[in-house]
Amino acid sequence: MEFKNTLEFARELDKKDTLAKYRTEFNFPKVNGKEVIYFTGNSLGLQSNRSVDYVKEVMDDWANLAVEGHFFADKPWWDYHERFSSPLSKLVGAKPSEVTVMNTLTVNLHLLMASFYRPTQKKFKILCEEKAFPSDQYMIQSQVQFHGLDPKDTIVEIKRRDGEHNFRIEDILAKIDEVGDELSLVLIGGLNYYTGQVLDMKTITAKAHEYDAYVGWDLAHAAGNIKLELHEWGADFAAWCSYKYMNSGPGNASGCFIHEKHHNNMDLPRLGGWWGHNKERRFLMEPKYDPIQSAHGWQISNLPILSLAPYLASVEMFDEIGMDKLVEKRDVITSYLEFILKEVARETNANFEIITPSDPKERGSQLSVLLHGEGRRLFDYLMEEGVIVDWREPNVIRLAPVPLYTSYEDMYHFGQILKNGVKS
Ligand SMILES: *Cc1c(COP(=O)(O)O)cnc(C)c1O
Repeated sequence: MEFKNTLEFARELDKKDTLAKYRTEFNFPKVNGKEVIYFTGNSLGLQSNRSVDYVKEVMDDWANLAVEGHFFADKPWWDYHERFSSPLSKLVGAKPSEVTVMNTLTVNLHLLMASFYRPTQKKFKILCEEKAFPSDQYMIQSQVQFHGLDPKDTIVEIKRRDGEHNFRIEDILAKIDEVGDELSLVLIGGLNYYTGQVLDMKTITAKAHEYDAYVGWDLAHAAGNIKLELHEWGADFAAWCSYKYMNSGPGNASGCFIHEKHHNNMDLPRLGGWWGHNKERRFLMEPKYDPIQSAHGWQISNLPILSLAPYLASVEMFDEIGMDKLVEKRDVITSYLEFILKEVARETNANFEIITPSDPKERGSQLSVLLHGEGRRLFDYLMEEGVIVDWREPNVIRLAPVPLYTSYEDMYHFGQILKNGVKS
């Protein structure tokens, strides 16, 4: 498509956008009385009216039914989480039995590592990416120490080449070969939070399996953003938070995937609790733990229904739309934003370096821009003008034109504000 940096052109694209109607369901913060241009849906997605309704429903049921709500609410609480199985499985390319929701992301990765990271003397190494999201680094280090091992000898990082911003698949595969039979677990962010690069999860998973290692994916920035085929790819496990692209609200519940090949494996240790116990016999309060043979078998506690309510509203919205449509708009609007950035750079002689891969297959809804010669001043200017972006040291801004609720007109106006900001 031939793009133009004009208001008319942006409005034409909005008119043809079949997702445009969803924008009106979301609540945008205001700056100086005007709705913001929101580029941080990769950090905290916007609130939808549906999610407010779903929370209200739980509050009303609590008021009207109290403990009876567990069984007699419209959406009974005792199996509320099972409502996620079908829509969420489609979102991540899994079977319904392979997904569940519980806890928060880092907690779930710890719990999944309890099952999938069981180092032996010969097989104990974990492969992750360099400069992983800090929580993942702390999580992996502390798990290694929990097993009495030294992170220095245990954690192997895949590196970028000097002067390059993105990982090369051949380097990752070579690293797996190099670690070989000592490899116990691969645990990487499927979509890099800093650069927005999507990794070839299928190829990496297959390669690690050649060495009988388990493969887990942190999909914090991938879920609800890119198309995933977790079952097909044979990933052993994955987890994601729901408050980024899935718009479920601050700090909210995590989703996780456990491949069905592991569901019946009772040799795999799990940290148990009553909500993972055989559903039919849960309330018999029997002494022996009998975990459910599905992803729900990794549940521990009865679920925080108030947290799940906005997440469920969101997952149902995604299901209504389908990932294919989202991905289609995502690619066009992200390319349009890329075009606008290049236009502004050209007109102002600014040196913006987009470090996100330019191939749409290797990125989702995020462009990370290195602002050579610009810094915090430009970021502050954008924020004051009602453009909500995210700043990462030393001088990177991350822009996520989330297809569910950003418009092409937003991209155009952003370009105009950016141009003034560079010149001022
Ligand atoms: C956002 C994010 C997290 C956040 O973890 P929480 O446990 O939800 O606080 C973890 N890992 C990655 C890669 C992230 O992007």
